[in-house]
Amino acid sequence: MHTREEIAKRIEEIVRKLANRNPCGEGKIKLMNRRYVLMSTDYFPYDLLKDLEEIFNAAGDTLLYQGGIKVGRDLYNHYINVAREHGIDLWDVISAVGWYFGWGTGEVVERGERDGVYRMVVYDSFEAESFLAREGRGDKSVCHFMRGVLTGLVEGVEGRDYVGHETRCRAKGDEYCEFVIEPR
Ligand SMILES: [Zn+2]
Repeated sequence: MHTREEIAKRIEEIVRKLANRNPCGEGKIKLMNRRYVLMSTDYFPYDLLKDLEEIFNAAGDTLLYQGGIKVGRDLYNHYINVAREHGIDLWDVISAVGWYFGWGTGEVVERGERDGVYRMVVYDSFEAESFLAREGRGDKSVCHFMRGVLTGLVEGVEGRDYVGHETRCRAKGDEYCEFVIEPR
């Protein structure tokens, strides 16, 4: 496992290889021919989760997690081609894209060597910061969408079902968020 600074330095080099020259051209933010939008973490995902909780009671976190899994599977199909085309490890591409779009500074620490389990570390998770800004430190992990996305990515890589847990979270005072993703 590396420090935040070490991860960021390595990621920056990868981003330079992948990013469009002018990512904000034509008033659209683009990377590798996909369009993106920016949203303030003052509102997203905090408000969305609170609304989901209000409508579906405690199921809001599950909805974000399940939605994240679908996104993660889609990202796998997109970025596996990018990784092959540029000759860059898929997880390095994912770390670089996540960093570039401000999701956090992360790396994969274990890749299934032990019983198929993946472990990932993310500093500065946008989801945790959204909660910290609005509610301060709590006693629960809150990065449900990120947990889903990472789980969907692992499912893409491994071609089978996984379940994701967030074992540490900035929102409850840990230094970084940690995700453990296990075969179902
Ligand atoms: Zn977290």
